[in-house]
Formats: sequence, structure tokens, C-alpha cells
Amino acid sequence: MIDVGLSRFRAVHHLRQALLLGLVPFVSLAAQQLTTDTRDPNQKQDPTFAQSYQEWLANPKHGSPLVDHLPLVAGIPTPRDVLGYHIGAPRKLTYYADQLKYYRALAAASPRVKIETIGRSDEGRELVVVWIASEANMQRLAQNRANLAKIADPRGMTEAQVKAVLADTKPHYHFMGGLHSGETGPSEMLMELAYRLVTETSPLISQIREQLYVSITPAADADGRDRNVDWFFRGLDMAAAIPAPAITPVVTPAPAMPVAGDTARRAPAGAPTAAPAGGGGFGGGAGVPYWGKYVYHDNNRDINIKLVQMRAIIDWYFTAYPPIMHDLHEAQPLLYTYTGGPPQNPNLDPILFAELPWFGNWEMAQMTKWGMPGVYTHAFMDGWSPGYLGSVAYNHNGLMKMYETQSGRDLDSTAMANARRGVTAATPAPGGGLGGGRGGGVPTGRGGAQDREWYRRRRSSARPPASAPYAADSAA
Ligand SMILES: [Zn+2]
Repeated sequence: MIDVGLSRFRAVHHLRQALLLGLVPFVSLAAQQLTTDTRDPNQKQDPTFAQSYQEWLANPKHGSPLVDHLPLVAGIPTPRDVLGYHIGAPRKLTYYADQLKYYRALAAASPRVKIETIGRSDEGRELVVVWIASEANMQRLAQNRANLAKIADPRGMTEAQVKAVLADTKPHYHFMGGLHSGETGPSEMLMELAYRLVTETSPLISQIREQLYVSITPAADADGRDRNVDWFFRGLDMAAAIPAPAITPVVTPAPAMPVAGDTARRAPAGAPTAAPAGGGGFGGGAGVPYWGKYVYHDNNRDINIKLVQMRAIIDWYFTAYPPIMHDLHEAQPLLYTYTGGPPQNPNLDPILFAELPWFGNWEMAQMTKWGMPGVYTHAFMDGWSPGYLGSVAYNHNGLMKMYETQSGRDLDSTAMANARRGVTAATPAPGGGLGGGRGGGVPTGRGGAQDREWYRRRRSSARPPASAPYAADSAA
């Protein structure tokens, strides 16, 4: 049995570096040549972060020079200064109000941060977008935003005018965490990313800050977020109340849990059956009785916008036109970066299907350079379904990126043993699956019950097989 709290750290760790990596292609060629120059030797670093990083990282291969340190800058609070713990700390999740408290503390301390209120959730929680860029960029935020709106709809402009606007505009990259509130890592990691982008003076981060605008949705479904954090702590309390002999692992396949987020969850094989399977003790999320005021399950997609908090994000999109909406999820082993595989929607701009693999391949190449196993792109999400809220961008000539990172729930002792032995994603694991659901140990191209080429089989069969999407799968 593994320590589920530590596995959570390892899971969010992949996300920690993936988030930074996604931004790098947007900086200049010179900066790309400096991608391993990720520290400013003259900047003070937080020794407590370095210690926790070493302590919590299962395998050095999962680390990288992007995130093995955390700068300290006088007057600017780290997440730990406000929350009391480093992001990813075992047995910690952050309530939405505390997330906002952190972002507000950061904004109060730095002119590089602005917070925009974009609405209220069903239960009245304030919905925000957090903006981060250099001071100079922040002074031009309104102008840049207006320029992006012109670029998004250039009708009526001459080519020369369009080129002039382009030359006067910096890219804007939007991250969105917590669309599936049971997938708790992104909302944690985005706070640390924000802090790094504000404070770090490495060539890499400085150039990101100077050359583009980054914005963040801390938790797309703020109501569901708090339910899941409640559930997480409930699970920890229940596990703590069980006497030690009662949690001797019973290695039997756990029953499927109610569909939640990207996959039908199962408790990790070998998990203590006396503990609340899939409940808070495994990271929060699976099995939460009710996720929102009006919905059983916040499977809230661009194609199915039924929550006011989702509509607020879509409405905001049409005020800012970020060319990239990056939707952050966790339900796949290690790191899956979406590249819009077949079938692709022919109604979307063909450039999209050239750009998506370019980004994904770039990320895989970078992580391979750092000796990191397991980043891949051959998984379930095709270029047809507008299956995530961020697809509002690629439905409007922009680009949606999407990551799935490993959930702390999905790891079991086999996975961790493999990780310690350095078994990479290309090496089949015994039994082919680890935690159940989509969180299998080896990327197979299958997502839960969804075969990679499901569309071919459906076409050729009068009756959809049981594994067809929509029959047995909520899709991700
Ligand atoms: Zn998800």
C-alpha cells in the first residue's frame, strides 16, 4: 500500500512542471535555447521547498530543473506563507476561498498580478480570472486585449491593418483548472505557477513574463471544488478513525465508483477495503454524493453549458479572446498532452491540426531531454468532439490545449514499484492496468471504455459494442 498523501504530491509534481513547459514555446528562439537555464544563480531560493521536493519525489526522473526550486522574494508571499504548506503537500487540499486569498495576497504584493471578477457561481462564490505579466505588459493589458479581439474578428480591416495590430500585440495564454472538480491537482498547482511567474528571475521565466500574458481560472467549478475538498478531508478523518489492523490491505479488484470527471473511478487495487473507496482518502473527488447545486456530476462541457460558472467563463472568453485555452485535467498516467488525433473535425481550421501536434511533440521532446519518462500524446481525446470547455477557443479560430496528469488516486503499489525501477510508459506493466478506469499504467490509446478507433467500429456495426462511448462512458 502506498501513502496516498505522498502519491498526491508525485501526481501534482508532473503537473507542476508541465504547466511551465506549456508556456515555453511562446517565448523567443533565444529563450528556447535557454530552456535548461531555469535558475537565476543570484536569486534566493526557499530551502524548505527544496527539502520537501527531495523528500516527496519518488524518483529523480520525475523531477526537472524547471521546478526543483522555488524563489524567495522579500514582500511577495509564497503559497506556503499564506496557506501554511507547500503546494502538493501530503494530505492537503486548498478550499476555493483560500485559493482566492492567496491570489489576492499575490496581487496586493505585486503589480504583475491583476484579478478580474467574471461572475458568481450557482452558490454565490466569486468567479475570477487572475492575470500575470510584467509591469509594462500590465499597463497595456486593456490595449492588448482590444487588439486580440480585433485579431479574432479581423473583418473590415485591411491586411496592412491586421499586420500592424499583430505587431503591437502579445500572445495571451489561459490556464483553466478544476473543470472536473474531482481532479484536484490543477487548482493547487496553478497557485504555485502564478507565484513562479510573478517572482522568478531566471531567463526562462523572465521572458515568459515579458513576452506574453498568462491568465488563470483557479477552479472552473468553484462549488464542486469545495465539495471535493470537504470529501477529501472527510476521507482522511474516516481513515484516521480506523484502527491500524483494520486497514491491512486486501488485494481485490475494487468496485467501479460512480462516474466522476474523466473516468469511472475505482479505488486503487490493494487499497484498504475498510476505507471509503474512492473517497477523500484517495485524493478527493470520486464518489462525492452531489457535486453542484443543480447537477449530480459537473461534467460541464462546451457542448453542454448548464452551469452559470461555465457560462461565466465562456462569456469572459468573448471579452479577452485568449488564442490558447489550456484545460487542465487529471485522469491518465504520468502526462498526456492532447494533440487532436483522428478523427478531426473538418469544419475547424486545418492550421489547428498542424499546431496541436507541434506543441505536443515539443513538450515530449523537452521532457525527454530532461530524462523524464512517460509524457505521451497517443490517448483518447480526438480532434472531433468539442469535449472540454476550452474548446470554445478552437471553435473560434483559436487553439485548445489539454493535459491529463496522473491522479494520486490512480497509483498503486505496482505503479510506484515500476516508477522506482524506472519502468517507462513504453514498458507494459503486469496486468495492463493499475488503478482502474482510465488511470491504467500504460498508455494504450484507450480511454476507459473508449477505443481509439471507436468511430470506425460504430460505423461498421449495426449495434454499438458495449465499449462504445456514450454507452458505458461519460467521456473525459
Ligand atoms: Zn477531467
